[in-house]
Amino acid sequence: DNPKQAVDVAVLVSPGIGHTIPLFEFSKRLSVDHGLEVCFLVITTNEPSPAQDSLLRPEAGAVIPPNLHVVDLPPTDLSTIPEDTTLGDRISLLVKRSLESVRVVLLEPTSRPKALVIDIFCSEALEFGQELSIPVYTFFTTCAALLTFSLYLPTLDHEVEGEFTDMPGPIRVPGCRSYRPEDLLDPVKNRKIEEYRWILLHFSRLPRAAGILLNTWEDLEPVSLAALKENPFFLQIPAPPVYTIGPVIKQAEGSEMLTPSNAESLTWLDRRPPESVLFITFGSGGTLTIEQLTELGWGLELSQQRFVWVVRAPTDVSGSGTFFKAGSTKSGPEEYLPEGFLERTRGLGVVVQSWAPQMAILGHSSTGAFISHCGWNSTLESLSCGVPLIAWPLYAEQRMNAAMLAEDIGVAIRPVTMDQGTGLVGRDEVERVVRMVMEGEEGKALRRRARDLKDSAEKALSCGGTSWETLATVCREWKSKDIYAAPNNKC
Ligand code: UDP
Repeated sequence: DNPKQAVDVAVLVSPGIGHTIPLFEFSKRLSVDHGLEVCFLVITTNEPSPAQDSLLRPEAGAVIPPNLHVVDLPPTDLSTIPEDTTLGDRISLLVKRSLESVRVVLLEPTSRPKALVIDIFCSEALEFGQELSIPVYTFFTTCAALLTFSLYLPTLDHEVEGEFTDMPGPIRVPGCRSYRPEDLLDPVKNRKIEEYRWILLHFSRLPRAAGILLNTWEDLEPVSLAALKENPFFLQIPAPPVYTIGPVIKQAEGSEMLTPSNAESLTWLDRRPPESVLFITFGSGGTLTIEQLTELGWGLELSQQRFVWVVRAPTDVSGSGTFFKAGSTKSGPEEYLPEGFLERTRGLGVVVQSWAPQMAILGHSSTGAFISHCGWNSTLESLSCGVPLIAWPLYAEQRMNAAMLAEDIGVAIRPVTMDQGTGLVGRDEVERVVRMVMEGEEGKALRRRARDLKDSAEKALSCGGTSWETLATVCREWKSKDIYAAPNNKC
């Protein structure tokens, strides 16, 4: 007798809202659009994350389809990891500690899936997937260009002596755009640290995946995608099949997910002219130094452009200060914004503490541009809403994204920093780029390009579009592994 498998696909995501959002949205698509039974495994920590709760917990307003099951793995204590541990090390360690519980779930006859989908930090699951005879797919949460770089990193590691950042001129990867050494993703900038060893290990496991699901679409990255798909041996290693299924982004926040102050910022937007407001937020983790916060505040004020600005408490260095506790609030912005800023800009702009309903704001007709750290979700969300960007990268691979958006795709401008070490952007430069994007001819050109991409993203995701069809094919493959699975493809 062949009992019906209760789970078609299990999805395992590393801690952090930036990966949880696209993998959860992907899971929703599997269950709602393609009728799969999905088990979403969450690596929890003891650090509260209101933003994550509003996504995953019905009691916090989350809307979850009936065939998508959120399963919390036993929490890991963040405080047992030393304070000075880098972001990548921290995530990798948390995943490592949870893998035994993942194995327990996968071995349960009722929750044994036909396929497991993981993000890059869960790469160890590629090893035990083989052992359990479960095909493991990697959902790559950033762009195709970075995937080519990632697949090539083990070769670079083998061939290059010393630091990549000391290499003369740009770093060339077959099939990928060239990157200036200073734009490389953070963990590869110092090969002596533990974080580099982790990222090298994760990337070197990529070829073992049964397939790589890419959160991008054909028109956005034609060159890298052609290289990956048409010549899987272009990097001298066999790249696994690549499935382009993006943009996979969260839907605009419904009213049930809005705090009173978030709802207020949307009402404020309702009363502003079309495309007249600049939105500013730096992803789930982005925090600025007090010096940078002050320069940004002054620059906004000098530009006299309307804004909605998500302000977080400053940190010693600009970076990923709120990564594990997205949406939590401690103190009020009046404590660290330039003196008198809130009074002087009353009517011109709105300051939101800690977290804003980003999709609802980007999709609002009054929003004209986005100052973003260029995390890949924020990038895709902005482009899907046809909104151009001022690229302000802070951590992880964001500098690589920013370079591609400004130099290849033509939807962003990048402010010039005063000093490469701190990356400080002065108030005059803030004023210049803000005016340029909101009022200048250059801004109009960026907006036109962003609108074209919005249209092409919609096309890719609609029935018959490249991304829709690709995901439908993968789902059919997964379903066909069970003769009892009923087809339920909405397209
Ligand atoms: N986000 C949000 N409100 C905020 C800041 C971020 O809703 O004030 C969401 C944003 O819509 C995106 C995610 O958090 O989906 C951030 O992901 P991204 O890849 O841009 O950056 P990361 O947080 O991974 O650095």
